Amino acid sequence: MRTKTAFFNRTRFIIGNGEKTRFWEDTWIGEEPLALQYPQLYNIAQRKQTSVAVVLRETPLNIQFRRALIGNRWVRWLHLVRRLMDITLSDCLDSIRWRLTTNGTFSVKSMYDHIIDSSPIPKSMNIWKVKVPLKIKIFMWFVHKGVVLTKDNLAKRIWKGNRRCSFCHTHETIKHLFLDCPMAKLLWRSIQITFNIAPPTSIYMLFGTWLEGVNVIYAKLIRVGTCALLWAIWNCRNGLVFNRQHYINFLQVIFRATALIHMWSLLTPVTTRERLVTGCVRWEMVAQVIFNRYG
Ligand SMILES: [Zn+2]
Repeated sequence: MRTKTAFFNRTRFIIGNGEKTRFWEDTWIGEEPLALQYPQLYNIAQRKQTSVAVVLRETPLNIQFRRALIGNRWVRWLHLVRRLMDITLSDCLDSIRWRLTTNGTFSVKSMYDHIIDSSPIPKSMNIWKVKVPLKIKIFMWFVHKGVVLTKDNLAKRIWKGNRRCSFCHTHETIKHLFLDCPMAKLLWRSIQITFNIAPPTSIYMLFGTWLEGVNVIYAKLIRVGTCALLWAIWNCRNGLVFNRQHYINFLQVIFRATALIHMWSLLTPVTTRERLVTGCVRWEMVAQVIFNRYG
């Protein structure tokens, strides 16, 4: 639903016969929907989903309000009616024009860029600047926004499955899966031992203040690693949920993460690439030692 709204908010309807365009809620006259241009009227309008055709095809205008149009409402109504007088319906179908591209054709990239430009992002972990593939940035954004489809979020959508975490016996939430699960804790502990960085204690902190005070170059590398870690946890978890795998140990998660970092290091300049690769080797060595000692 949110995507649908986001889509229509960036769309402009070119009126033909007016049948496919919502009078109040689509953008067809002016730069935003009439509902936003005339909230005083929209709030008291009956049939808020009505089409342009239904309203304009009759004289007087086929529009009813739940309250009397007095004072400011009357002024706004006259203002709206004056503008509607210039509209003429035709026999053609309504068409859609995408507002974010010059040729009016929809593109995923234009929508994506616009969403990013208009969304507040915490400064410390600017997800969109981390050198990882776009798919991963979007995943991290979902984690940050708390909308990854972990089982608690599925349950909110009337999903009836078992809410147990795939790695332990606690209910699965985003915070649990990525930070609090014994599996996650072990993974973060291995990072702490290898890179001397204390794990974040909340998702908010992970995307906020976590790396404040850490050397900028170092922090950049850690962010790539963090993306890899979360994506590896998510993929291993999905392996257990969907592919009927029975068991994954933390070493497998780390090797998956380091394989990703190797791959993503190609997106960075040579010096950064070397640092990332060295970091992977160190992390794997520490993980092996932990594994050999504790199993
Ligand atoms: Zn767990």
